[in-house]
Amino acid sequence: MAFDTVKKNLEARGFSVKIFSTGAEAAAYLDGAIDGTSVGFGGSLTAKELGLYDKLAAHNEVHWHWEGGPGERVAAAHAKVYITSANGLAETGEIINIDGAGNRVAATLFGHGKVYFVIGRNKLAPTYEEALWRARNIAAPKNAQRLGKKTPCAVKGDKCYDCKSPDRICRGLVVLWGPSIGVETEIVLVDQDLGL
Ligand code: SF4
Repeated sequence: MAFDTVKKNLEARGFSVKIFSTGAEAAAYLDGAIDGTSVGFGGSLTAKELGLYDKLAAHNEVHWHWEGGPGERVAAAHAKVYITSANGLAETGEIINIDGAGNRVAATLFGHGKVYFVIGRNKLAPTYEEALWRARNIAAPKNAQRLGKKTPCAVKGDKCYDCKSPDRICRGLVVLWGPSIGVETEIVLVDQDLGL
């Protein structure tokens, strides 16, 4: 996939961008770039698929609620570096995430010196509207299904029903038009399908 357009548009918004052909190459890059610091993880199948937690734990202080339990959300919020993915990335450069607990989206806005978004090609959509549609109608229902939620979308994982269920996982939406002031934000694009 040609990432040229999205790279140009992300850089114009103030993000830095790295491109890799495979997840293994991206993981090796992050393993080299993040060293001797504290790292927080947001809920991210992409990070899990790349084995980033184990790699970085060998030479960093790492915090991830998927590994250490719910309390790790708070510890992750205080890490110097934060790693997550996105539910949708527009070719025009907007980064879109929907969250339930809010820790993941909050961390992309404030509190960390550096934030990495690791994003596979399947998250890319031509426009902001299509990226938002993807986040709401592909990523969120499939995540609800994966988590076994009692929501209408989890039955078939087909689309968002804008439910009012107590199990609703879509509680907040964050769109980054650019990096928050004072937060170095790097987008690691991978020419491979990663996450949902
Ligand atoms: S709002 Fe409800 S129906 Fe829509 S994706 Fe989220 S959990 Fe599913």
